[in-house]
Amino acid sequence: MEKYIKIIGDSYYGYFNYLVNEMFYPSLHNYFWWLLGLSVGVWLLEIFLPWREKQAIFRKDFWLDGFYMFFNYFLFSLIAYNAISNVAVELFNDFLGLFGVENIVAIQIESWPRWAQFLLMFLIADFIQWNVHRLLHRVPALWEFHKVHHSVEEMGFAAHLRFHWMETILYKSAQYIPLAMIGYGLEDFFIVHIFTTAIGHLNHANIKLTYGPLKYILNNPVMHLWHHAKALPKNMPYGVNYGITLSLWDYLFKTDYIPHEGEYEPLGFDGMEEFPKTFWQQVTYPFFKKKSNEAAE
Ligand SMILES: [Zn+2]
Ligand SMILES: [Zn+2]
Repeated sequence: MEKYIKIIGDSYYGYFNYLVNEMFYPSLHNYFWWLLGLSVGVWLLEIFLPWREKQAIFRKDFWLDGFYMFFNYFLFSLIAYNAISNVAVELFNDFLGLFGVENIVAIQIESWPRWAQFLLMFLIADFIQWNVHRLLHRVPALWEFHKVHHSVEEMGFAAHLRFHWMETILYKSAQYIPLAMIGYGLEDFFIVHIFTTAIGHLNHANIKLTYGPLKYILNNPVMHLWHHAKALPKNMPYGVNYGITLSLWDYLFKTDYIPHEGEYEPLGFDGMEEFPKTFWQQVTYPFFKKKSNEAAE
């Protein structure tokens, strides 16, 4: 037990130092300044090359989404995730230890060239995310959490990181075991992380970009706008275009849907009017919502 408490303490201390360092010492290998730079860069594109010209530069929920961005990217990790995940990994390893298992590596790719290792890890992680995203739409209890992301009414770069913190836990947990089964020789996924953040920002931005024939591989703002559309096609009632960074999976599994450009397509979900409007209400809502349903039964 003491061991776990020590892990929690070390995690907070380590992450706090890390965050302070990130904020005050800009460098090329720094998440904080990259996030800031990417956000300003994509916002400038929205300002000078807007797709929806009627949309304000400070669109609806601009500041709320900006807060979500900072919260989900940094603060949530500081407050809870880092400590929870370190303890979970230790518990998991101890659990395996009970059966004499020291690691669960099933495939070794350490000897592969670095780029091939990056590519494989990225493909696996993105495919898992695509599946988790489908579940967020399919399973009613999970949809309550995912509604936060779909409560965006006007799309802009910061909407990318407007989501309930529970999503971080769900996505990371689903990825952990499959990725732990691969023995890779990479220590740092910085490049992949920055690349996926850039694509995610662009997917939500008020810019008309489709990347030509690459649209069958990369998700893009036109395709992702339809993921947020209020009206869904009859044959796909749960949702369309589930892609995170890659659009490939949607084309492969026939969940792609782009009927036309649709820049002014109404966004959200049915019953949006009753959805809470502030950060605190939105992140607590799924828990209380469940309770009030149970009480009503
Ligand atoms: Zn979604
Ligand atoms: Zn989105």
